[in-house]
Amino acid sequence: MARFKRILLKLSGESLAGKLGYGIDVERLNEYARQVKEIHDMGVQIGIVIGGGNIFRGLQGAGKGFDRVKGDQMGMCATVINSLGLSSALGAIGCKNRVLTAIRMEPVGEFYSKWKAIEAMERGEVVIMSGGTGQPYFTTDTGSSLRGVEIEADVMLKGTRVDGVYTADPEKDPSATKFHDITYDEVVERKLKVMDLSAIVMCNDNNLPIYVFNMDIPGNLKKVMEGEEIGTLVHK
Ligand code: UDP
Repeated sequence: MARFKRILLKLSGESLAGKLGYGIDVERLNEYARQVKEIHDMGVQIGIVIGGGNIFRGLQGAGKGFDRVKGDQMGMCATVINSLGLSSALGAIGCKNRVLTAIRMEPVGEFYSKWKAIEAMERGEVVIMSGGTGQPYFTTDTGSSLRGVEIEADVMLKGTRVDGVYTADPEKDPSATKFHDITYDEVVERKLKVMDLSAIVMCNDNNLPIYVFNMDIPGNLKKVMEGEEIGTLVHK
């Protein structure tokens, strides 16, 4: 039995770059698709939001003289590119799915609505919600908390390259220790970089727990669904 009935899985665009450091590492993409299929086979209803940092971030463009809004729109398009990649990888292994977009761009994907997403999940399709919130000055962290709340997910699973939330960045500070669980308030007070502040506030206000775990280890997504405590739970 899966621990959660309906999940919102947030994947970072940067992780998709894998060992290439930029763009899409097909091996990583296929590995993510395999992990998603594993839990789809358990009967879990799955909504996915992917970032676009492996291709473009609005802020990075603004630093080089880009118009911020156009830069953010480029970033949102990057999330659509990643979403189409994941959709294709899922389709190739027989996992039914559809891409919804926060900005109208048929026939690339259908325009997002909460009900379309829920109906598709209830029919057994994985739903990839691309384009973030559709608005500039946001990130896919905020986009995923918004979508998670909208689709009434039981939890947001934040797949990263770290195995949970630490007292400090474990890649920089070897003395950092990991939390088994932590409250939203403590994340904010300690200024821990779990997600953007706006995303944390949205999850707190709407009581959407966040589970942070390392998605770059094959099989970990299934372990989370089986109830293995391999990450950190952020809650009220
Ligand atoms: N973005 C945006 N609005 C949104 C979501 C994303 O403008 O609702 C843009 C923003 O420029 C962001 C980029 O898309 O930098 C890529 O998303 P993000 O940085 O969240 O990707 P990740 O860090 O997860 O790879």
